[in-house]
Amino acid sequence: MQAASTRRRKKPPLAAVVPKGASPASRRAPVLEEVIDNVRQDYLDALPIAAAVIAAPESQPAFVDAANAHFRRIGGSDKETCGTRIDRVPFLQAGPIGCALTNFLNGETAAHEFEGHDGQTIGGRHFTVRLARLGPRLGIAKRCLISMIDKTAQVETEKSLRAEMLRDTLTGLPNRLAFNERVEEILEHPNFHEGTHAVVVVDMTRFSRVNECMGALAGDELLITFARRLFSTLRAGDVLARTGGDEFGILMRLERGIDDALELAERIKSVLATPFRLSEMEIRVDCSVGCALLTQCVELSEEVLRNAQFALKRSKQTGRAQIYEPTQAQAARHRFSIETELRRAIEANQLTLAFQPLIDLPTGTVSGFEALARWDHEERGPISPVEFIPVAEESGLIVSLGRWALNAAAQTLADWDKEVGKKLPLYVAVNLSAIQIARDDMSAAVGNALKSSGLEGRRLTLELTESAIIQDPLRATKVLEALKAFDARVAMDDFGTGYTSLSYLQRLPIDVLKIDRSFVTGMLADRDSVAIIRAVLSLADALGMATTAEGIESEELAKALTELGCSHGQGFFFAKPLHAQAALAYWLARNA
Ligand code: C2E
Ligand code: MG
Ligand code: MG
Repeated sequence: MQAASTRRRKKPPLAAVVPKGASPASRRAPVLEEVIDNVRQDYLDALPIAAAVIAAPESQPAFVDAANAHFRRIGGSDKETCGTRIDRVPFLQAGPIGCALTNFLNGETAAHEFEGHDGQTIGGRHFTVRLARLGPRLGIAKRCLISMIDKTAQVETEKSLRAEMLRDTLTGLPNRLAFNERVEEILEHPNFHEGTHAVVVVDMTRFSRVNECMGALAGDELLITFARRLFSTLRAGDVLARTGGDEFGILMRLERGIDDALELAERIKSVLATPFRLSEMEIRVDCSVGCALLTQCVELSEEVLRNAQFALKRSKQTGRAQIYEPTQAQAARHRFSIETELRRAIEANQLTLAFQPLIDLPTGTVSGFEALARWDHEERGPISPVEFIPVAEESGLIVSLGRWALNAAAQTLADWDKEVGKKLPLYVAVNLSAIQIARDDMSAAVGNALKSSGLEGRRLTLELTESAIIQDPLRATKVLEALKAFDARVAMDDFGTGYTSLSYLQRLPIDVLKIDRSFVTGMLADRDSVAIIRAVLSLADALGMATTAEGIESEELAKALTELGCSHGQGFFFAKPLHAQAALAYWLARNA
């Protein structure tokens, strides 16, 4: 509609503009040009954006042949621009638009569109510029139409939005995104050399405690002061950013290699030595420090930060600043993929239990079986529990895995009873992780397993390690008492490797001490091991506990342990962990 009406609007009546008396041929040419100029001007003026026709006569400077008011105003004034050489129009002369225009006129392309600005550093304007080639006119072959859409408001909004996006509002420091961009700039620089820069990540210890105890406002204050102190340790040119809640990143230039980063870590530790004053209280804050070099191997800036975070994780364990080593990331990736697959395996019920006999040493009969989780991975083959149990613990999957193991073990023993047609004189021992004790409702878990299998509590033994008790003795005591209420038995697994205080042994309802394999294996050749075993046996005797020696691999060891007075034994000499059916067959053969 709009286009049609514009087209219809002005067709100048030729006869009206042709002066009288002129010969038709000579008179019409200039008059026609004038008419064409008028029409062209009309169209230019009708446009809502700045537009002009530029002409470049052979071996003469290009000039503005016609322009609308919007175009004339861009220069800052509405004065006549037509006829002016383009290198005298201020915004074409100073900025990149003029350059692009000259190149276009000298080239062949039909049209070219680009983003350009007027070259003013202060209050400059931004445009989307379009150049379109026009046909020759009045002997001038090189002509074009330049049209410019003012994008200044949009560009400014985007700029300030971006600045907001790159800044941490609390500390005013660059945020993670901005930090990664700075690292990216260095990685992509053509002169980038390995070992010239490092990323150091600093994580405040106990920050969440401060937040919990003193409130978010005090937490914010602490973060700001912490950031200030970090800032004071930087050298000129280093960049400090807030890369996470209580995590800060420093991008630093190295002059003497990684030692510079370690020195920075020292400086950071020393500025944290003075306590922080927070609402009338003095708080001492420490930090962990991880560091990673910018190398050619890393492709993404995010990867450098991640590497530094791996080192940081290790620093949290060791208490010292750590430098990233590539194998750490590989190990973490491996653990992560195991975690994903383990989750699937648990959901798809792909784990099984193996049963290893627990032998009554004086009689050689089987008193029970320890249930051990097995995972036969479709592609990787069997994966050892030594590998997947820690992953399950770290990811929390141990809660569902543990419940499954309890149910499956109790059910297997109940199934054996049914198969043989009587209540077998056997118990089943199930391993409990410290994480289950901390997170799961063990009383409910054991109650369910016993109820659904119909097993009596006394036929279930729960094996837990010393770490389960040490982590939270109060909770562990409650759990053990709840297990006792079911009449279940409790064994202390891998005894001797942890640091159980003897007072816990005395106070807690523990029925069996399982002597760790490390003391048993070398016992015959090592006097110290024998001494430890003797001590454990007399301790157990004094406390009225039974003992099981783990890892008996030879007849000799079995004999020696029996002679020392150990009540039970477990190990490859008797049997390896067996499939449920094979385990029942083993019992039948041995106890019949
Ligand atoms: P653990 O509870 O101390 O189990 C005994 C481990 O010693 C088993 O390893 C068993 O196969 C191994 N073993 C037994 N006799 C011998 C021997 O004569 N020589 C040698 N070299 N090894 C012997 P496994 O099955 O690889 O299990 C390792 C650990 O994984 C277990 O140690 C236990 O801590 C954990 N685990 C296994 N299944 C579960 C489970 O269902 N839940 C939890 N929380 N942990 C489990
Ligand atoms: Mg065990
Ligand atoms: Mg053990």
